[in-house]
Amino acid sequence: MSQIEDNVKAILAELPPGVELVAAAKARTPNEIQEAIKAGVKIIGENYIQEAINAYQIIGRQVKWHFIGHLQRNKVKKAIDIFDLIETLDSLPLAKEIDKRCGQKGKVMPVLIEINSGREPQKFGVLPEDVEDFVRQLASFSHLRVWGVMTMGPAFGDPEDARPYFQETARIFNHLKSLSLPHVEMKYLSMGMSNSYQVAIEEGANLVRLGTVIFGPRPG
Ligand SMILES: *Cc1c(COP(=O)(O)O)cnc(C)c1O
Repeated sequence: MSQIEDNVKAILAELPPGVELVAAAKARTPNEIQEAIKAGVKIIGENYIQEAINAYQIIGRQVKWHFIGHLQRNKVKKAIDIFDLIETLDSLPLAKEIDKRCGQKGKVMPVLIEINSGREPQKFGVLPEDVEDFVRQLASFSHLRVWGVMTMGPAFGDPEDARPYFQETARIFNHLKSLSLPHVEMKYLSMGMSNSYQVAIEEGANLVRLGTVIFGPRPG
């Protein structure tokens, strides 16, 4: 068995029931992605549209595809052909474009709201205090469904330092759930990467996005 298959099997055995794995595939070859699928990966996360197209042409619909990068408006048309879930909705203009393009194709796109939980100026995402208003404004877009929230959180050497950001994101998740807003069905709390997913799961994550622990260090 390959190293990638070994890694996937070990991670799947370790994840608690109800926690789903997204294999974060940026900079990986379609072959590497196939090995992860062979070992049980059901969801592929892609950051870049062109890489996603290349992988999707080979792999197709045997897995679900999540977009986890920063989506530019001029890439939305291509994105909605591939992705089952956009994890990184972070602005109204983007929401409007997704809604419009999905309307043209008769599709409804599930999205997660990306939250900038660390309030980092260089990062994308909606600020914690703005999330509720943002979600309320999405109710008018009939081709969008909010399925939850996603955060990266600041990068730390010690994942314990990320815990407060995961806690705040989980609080927002639970708050949005309690509001029972139209077009909102809070299914996914997406947080945790290779060095932080255990802490994220302790704080309620049910979708973890893992790259390095599956595929090894990224090339380049
Ligand atoms: C690359 C990436 C990941 C995975 O990162 P690793 O540290 O390699 O596990 C998760 N989420 C997003 C949004 C990413 O871009």
